[in-house]
Amino acid sequence: MSNQRNKKEDSYYGKHIWEKAERTLDGGFSYYYLICKECHVVRFPGDQLQSLQDYSKENLFLFIQDWVLLLLYAGHEYIAGITHYQKMLFLIFYEFAPKFNIPTENLGFYGYKYGPYSERIDAAIEFLIQQGYIRVEGRKSSSKERFYITDKGKEKGNKIFNKLSETQQKELMEFRMFWDQKTSKAICKYIYSKPEYKKFLNKSLILSELFPSRKLYRMRG
Ligand SMILES: [Zn+2]
Repeated sequence: MSNQRNKKEDSYYGKHIWEKAERTLDGGFSYYYLICKECHVVRFPGDQLQSLQDYSKENLFLFIQDWVLLLLYAGHEYIAGITHYQKMLFLIFYEFAPKFNIPTENLGFYGYKYGPYSERIDAAIEFLIQQGYIRVEGRKSSSKERFYITDKGKEKGNKIFNKLSETQQKELMEFRMFWDQKTSKAICKYIYSKPEYKKFLNKSLILSELFPSRKLYRMRG
């Protein structure tokens, strides 16, 4: 039985249906990436990534790694748990960055068991830990896991932070402070209550727990 389920999941993630997404930024600079129509996984062709990196040297454009570090930099002490980290970045991508007009690499979220999830964020965190920008304490993926920024990370975080306007900086610190005080469950509940995020509900295991009332639970269908 469980074998069967794993097999189904493997094929779900193995067989992507790619769609080209084209974006134009300030100054007329254009790039594209590929996004799966089914699960919203994102892939960047190498040449596109390179020209984006060149663009970002002179212009405001934040990559996944920038956001992972910046979010940690903009708050106090630590981020508690990978779920909290992922969900805050979800809100950064879908709400904060658009609201404050910060061009951002697509973080590639898709609906997963515990809410919107991006494997690219997990990979970025791993990379930043390996490179010594982030330090982690506590057992991996447990509720005790804590992500801290190192001195090296602060230096780099400060550079990214200074690319933002004063308003963007202030709002980002407030964003972090606000969501730091909430539980992961509260973030999920907020995300799941919005109709525009309905597409991230398809694989959720926690929906009925978050919304015991049947009216909201029907959103799933
Ligand atoms: Zn896919």
